[in-house]
Amino acid sequence: MIENVTKAALYVNENLVIRRNRICPEHGYEDRGRICVVTGAHGDELEGQFVCYELIRRIKAEKEKLRGTVDIYPALNPLGMDTGVRTVPILDMDLNHMFPGQKDGTMMDKVIASIVDSLKGAEVVIDVHASDTFVKEIPQARISEEFEDMMVPYAKQLNVDLIWINAATTVHESSLASSMCKLGVPALIMEMGLGNRINREYGEQVVDGILHLMHKLCLWEGEDIPVKEPRIIRNDDISFIRASESGIFMPLAENDTFVTKGTVLGEMIDPLLGEVIYQVKAKCDGRLFTLREHPLAYEGALIGRILKEEKEKSS
Ligand SMILES: [Zn+2]
Repeated sequence: MIENVTKAALYVNENLVIRRNRICPEHGYEDRGRICVVTGAHGDELEGQFVCYELIRRIKAEKEKLRGTVDIYPALNPLGMDTGVRTVPILDMDLNHMFPGQKDGTMMDKVIASIVDSLKGAEVVIDVHASDTFVKEIPQARISEEFEDMMVPYAKQLNVDLIWINAATTVHESSLASSMCKLGVPALIMEMGLGNRINREYGEQVVDGILHLMHKLCLWEGEDIPVKEPRIIRNDDISFIRASESGIFMPLAENDTFVTKGTVLGEMIDPLLGEVIYQVKAKCDGRLFTLREHPLAYEGALIGRILKEEKEKSS
C-alpha cells in the first residue's frame, strides 16, 4: 500500500511528497510489530534504492511468511533525488542535519517532524546511506556512543562488515538516527558503496541482514540466512590516509583488501608535467575499508581508511 507520509506545497502548483510502501501480513496472520527502512536523505546516494526494491521484492515473493509491518521510504529527500543533488535543493541544507524538525516551524521543519512522527512506534528504523561521491565504503553500521548499548545488538544482526561507533559527521545529534533514539525508537545508520552508484552485491548483503533482523524480531518466517560477525570499531582503530598535496589521485589498490605498511594505495599525478607527484602509501598493516574513487583530491582530502591490525581470515 503506497501512502503519503507528508505533502507540502511548493512555489508553483507542485508538491513535495514523501511516500512509503507499507507491507502488512496477509489476512489472518498476526502483526507482531513494525520495522522501517528509510533512505534517500542525501539525493546523491542511490545504494538504498536497490535495497528498497530488493527487500520489497523478496517479501512479496513469500508474503505468507510476513508477521509484521514493513514500511519502506525510498526517498526522504525527493527533490534532491530527482535532481541528483545531495542536499535539499533551494535551501542547500543537509536533510540529515535537520532532525527532529518542528511542527510549527518552516515548511521543511514540518516535513521532517511528519517523518519523525511516522517512524514513532517502530521496533527499529534503518537509515540506509551510500557514503558520498568521493570514497567507497564496505557495508557498515554507524552508531553514536550515546546509544551504543541500545543499538549494537540490532547492528550485529544486519550482516554488515563493521560497526563503527562515533563515526564523525554521520551520527551527530541532529541526524535522523540520533533523533529517533532520543525518542526511544531504536535507529541506526548503514553506510555502503559510493554516491551515484549502486553495488548489487552490497545491496543483497544488506537485504539478507534486514531479513535476518526481522527474523530475530519474529517479524519474518522466511529463510534465515546466516550473517557476518561484524567487528566493532572506534576512531582509534582506524588509520586515516589523507592527501598531503593536491593532485589527481589514481588508485592502485583495491578497496576491501588487506594491505601492509608501505603498500602503494595509489599515485597522485600531475597532468601538466606528466609526472607522479607522490605515492600514497599505507601507514600500517590492515584491511583497506575505504578508498577514494573521485580523482580530484585537494590537500587534506580523504584517500582511504585502514582498519588497523585486522588480519585476513585464512579460509
Ligand atoms: Zn548519506
